[in-house]
Amino acid sequence: MISNKVKDNLSSSSLVRKMFEEGEALRKIYGSENVFDFSLGNPDPEPPLAVKETLKRLVQEDKPGLHSYMNNAGYSEVREKVADNINKETGRNLTYRHIVMTCGAGGALNVVFKTILNPDEEVIVFTPFFSEYRFYVDNHGGKLIEIPSLSETFEPDLNRLEGSINSKTKAIIINSPNNPTGVVYSEKVLKAMAEVLERKERELNTTIYLISDEPYNKLVYDNIVLPKVLNIFKNSIIVNSFSKSHSLPGGRIGYIAVNDQMDNVQLLMDGLTFCNRTLGYINAPGIYQKVISETLDEVVDKQIYEERRNILYNHLIKLGFSCIKPQGAFYIFPKSLIKNDIEFKDRALKHNLIIVPGSVFGVPGYFRLSYCVSLKTIEKSLSAFEALASEF
Ligand code: PLP
Repeated sequence: MISNKVKDNLSSSSLVRKMFEEGEALRKIYGSENVFDFSLGNPDPEPPLAVKETLKRLVQEDKPGLHSYMNNAGYSEVREKVADNINKETGRNLTYRHIVMTCGAGGALNVVFKTILNPDEEVIVFTPFFSEYRFYVDNHGGKLIEIPSLSETFEPDLNRLEGSINSKTKAIIINSPNNPTGVVYSEKVLKAMAEVLERKERELNTTIYLISDEPYNKLVYDNIVLPKVLNIFKNSIIVNSFSKSHSLPGGRIGYIAVNDQMDNVQLLMDGLTFCNRTLGYINAPGIYQKVISETLDEVVDKQIYEERRNILYNHLIKLGFSCIKPQGAFYIFPKSLIKNDIEFKDRALKHNLIIVPGSVFGVPGYFRLSYCVSLKTIEKSLSAFEALASEF
């Protein structure tokens, strides 16, 4: 038999599985072109051509050693290129020693939590948030503390943050551009957050890590410039991946970058490298490390997402939905038209609309749409949203 904990986890995440099954049933009846599935964050644009060409070339060259093990932190020349790329954007002085290549951001987060958490230590997150964090923190004996974001902006509530930090607080996790809201945190709020953390670190004589989960950092719209977390928080750990920027989620490639200003940085890097190995990842996929090291400046055509965002946002606002205009990622998070977001999801299903209730992200009364669906599907779905809205 499986463990009681995993059994409990299966039932607590059953909503997402059920939604998938409901979608499959609808597709069988109506055909997939008539079902509007906004539930999955699985990028549909193909990877940039240069990424695919690099992969093909590496396979064709077939150099000896291409498929070997390497340092558990990844190829040092790949890590050096990742560090240089970060330095170019931030003006910092990272070297390969500050980088661990990982199996995506999901793998990276597990490695970080495994490395830093003692039993029952706390990680603070602002709701709504990517719900896998619950499992990742629990995997390594930690406790996830959920505190609400400011409801008008979905930016962090710093008063709540200050009140929630105690001697057990080991880390804060932020995710900007955010899944599920698409909100980008401003430099002002991040600088104010850094002041809170520094004050609390002094008061409690402790280190509080700021973990910045940034897989959507290349998907920002309206000419917004993303604040540089490494320049704002001394004890910052960046987690990133190429799942979204390069449309490579199946390649499982990402990295951890640690602030070069941090005290005892080498011990942390040794811990991260050890945990990358002993969690069984061993090392990030070798061939994809090489692919991304040659294509670090590539990014999928983000205009594709921006156009979809504009159409969906304008339509939802026209229909009377209340919603913050997303500035990044490929999600939009409107208020549901009734308080009960689970019931609202069921009502949407009757119009062949598959949406994810806000409860999944820790905030009932909202729903998430992922616009990883074709423009044609979005255009076809507009009348379904209209019919849904007219019921309320
Ligand atoms: N973090 C956030 C906020 C995400 O939305 C996702 C995936 O959707 C991940 C991490 C995991 O991404 P990866 O494919 O890099 O593991």
